[in-house]
Parts: sequence; structure tokens; C-alpha cells
Amino acid sequence: MLKIGLGRDFHRLTEGRRFLLGGIAIPAQLGELGHSDGDVLAHAVCDAILGAAALGDIGSLFPPLDPAWKDADSMELLRSAFSMVKQAGWHLVNIDCVVNCEEPKVLPFRDNIRQSLAAALEVPVDAVFVKGKTGEGLGPVGEGKAVEAVAVCLLTK
Ligand code: MG
Repeated sequence: MLKIGLGRDFHRLTEGRRFLLGGIAIPAQLGELGHSDGDVLAHAVCDAILGAAALGDIGSLFPPLDPAWKDADSMELLRSAFSMVKQAGWHLVNIDCVVNCEEPKVLPFRDNIRQSLAAALEVPVDAVFVKGKTGEGLGPVGEGKAVEAVAVCLLTK
């Protein structure tokens, strides 16, 4: 059986925060605001795998109002979600992701991000892909006020 999953996340950008994508800290003027560490890509991937397995979503598993998740390492949340998915008998086939932001550029960090996500999800690097896009100057992404990530995944059992 195959199941597809979709995840999407959006974080406001602000000063004094790190800019994290899939556990990789990228040098940038602004970083992701969030109750956790704000890693928008880790959150989108988390929702994609949980959605495919029909096990919930990041908000229901790790509620943003729960102090336990304050400044949480989102890659830890992802590993925890993936272990639930594995326990339900699923194997990850692949994930494909898009990160939308004006700054910083994702491309120079793409391979690091792919390796980081692949390690957390226990798949080869060629099972993970990430593209960077801009907002063409339009909307909160284009104005550099926010970053968005979208992820799809395929699970099999
Ligand atoms: Mg989030």
C-alpha cells in the first residue's frame, strides 16, 4: 500500500532568531519566530509524514501552547513523529520540498539540508529533495517578512 502526505508551514521572520531549515542553521539577517526553534521545513515534513500515516499533525502532537515544546529542537520533533510512523509499519519512500523565501538563498545549503533530513528519516539522500523559490517581491514571503515550506512524501507498507 502507498500513501501520500502533504505538509505546509509558514513562519514570520524577525531579528534575534536563527534561520533553520531541516536542522541546518543558515546565516541570515532575520530568523524564524516560533514557540519551538521555528524550523519551518522540519515542521512541513513532520506534517507530511504524519498526514500520510493518518497519525495527526504537529499541532496536535506537540501543542504550541505547551511549555514542554518551548524552544524545542524541531528535528527532535521530526524524529519523534517519524518513530510513530515507523511503529505503525510505514516506510518512507521519498520526500520532496519547496522553501519559499526572499532571503537567504537556499541553494548553497541544499545538500546539507537534504543530508540532515535524510539522516533523521533514515533514508538515502536521494530520497530527499529541496527546492528554494522566492516570492517575486509579492506578499509576506516576497516582502521578506515570512518563510513558507511545503513538503510531500510517499509512505509504503
Ligand atoms: Mg511551524
